[in-house]
Amino acid sequence: MKLDILVFGAHPDDVELGCSGTIINHLKNGLKIGIIDLSRGELGTRGTVETRNQETTQSTKVLGVQLRENMDFKDGLFENNDENKIKLIKKIRKYKPEIVLTNAPNDRHPDHGRSSELTIDACFLSGLEKIETGQDIWRPKHIYHYIQFNTILPDFVVDITEEMDKKLESILCYKTQFYNPDSKESETIISSEDFLESIKYRAKDLGRQSDCKYAEGFISNQTLKVNSLKDLI
Ligand SMILES: [Zn+2]
Repeated sequence: MKLDILVFGAHPDDVELGCSGTIINHLKNGLKIGIIDLSRGELGTRGTVETRNQETTQSTKVLGVQLRENMDFKDGLFENNDENKIKLIKKIRKYKPEIVLTNAPNDRHPDHGRSSELTIDACFLSGLEKIETGQDIWRPKHIYHYIQFNTILPDFVVDITEEMDKKLESILCYKTQFYNPDSKESETIISSEDFLESIKYRAKDLGRQSDCKYAEGFISNQTLKVNSLKDLI
């Protein structure tokens, strides 16, 4: 199946936090979107691989994406090496996305930066004929990084006013990870009520600056162009 957008995240829930509003918005407009999580987040303080898998399945239903896969790379320890690059190249050549979304280049969790680097490398190398995987070559036209933990000034934002409720619903599918007053597990920086509030506040603040109610921000590693200034209205 060919996809329009392929979204990578180091851990299940990265995608929900960073760009689920944008995903829902583009699905509504008929685009085909898939998510590939690189690891199962097995080193997370709260939850287990089993509970995290269940939470991911639930959230995936809320989002309604065409596919979601997991690379089963080692949480915290995966490397941007030849083996992992080839594995991602095979996925990029299989799904042929025009647009790839990935983690922020620098973030609190070091896996996010590594995921970002690995994705950039794989997208470029996927376009080289001499890297043979038995598939046609494919290079995505754009790579955009979503913003997750650290505050980063975006290059552009997507209006997610209509999608904000569903974004929060998808995040809260991860009951072991985020604010859950019924949980008895150790509190972490992302399980606090403040963290959840910060997600809402960031969307509201980016919306305030771009004349809508809620927005998600992205950065691009290349110069962006519009065909008409009216595209920005
Ligand atoms: Zn993460």
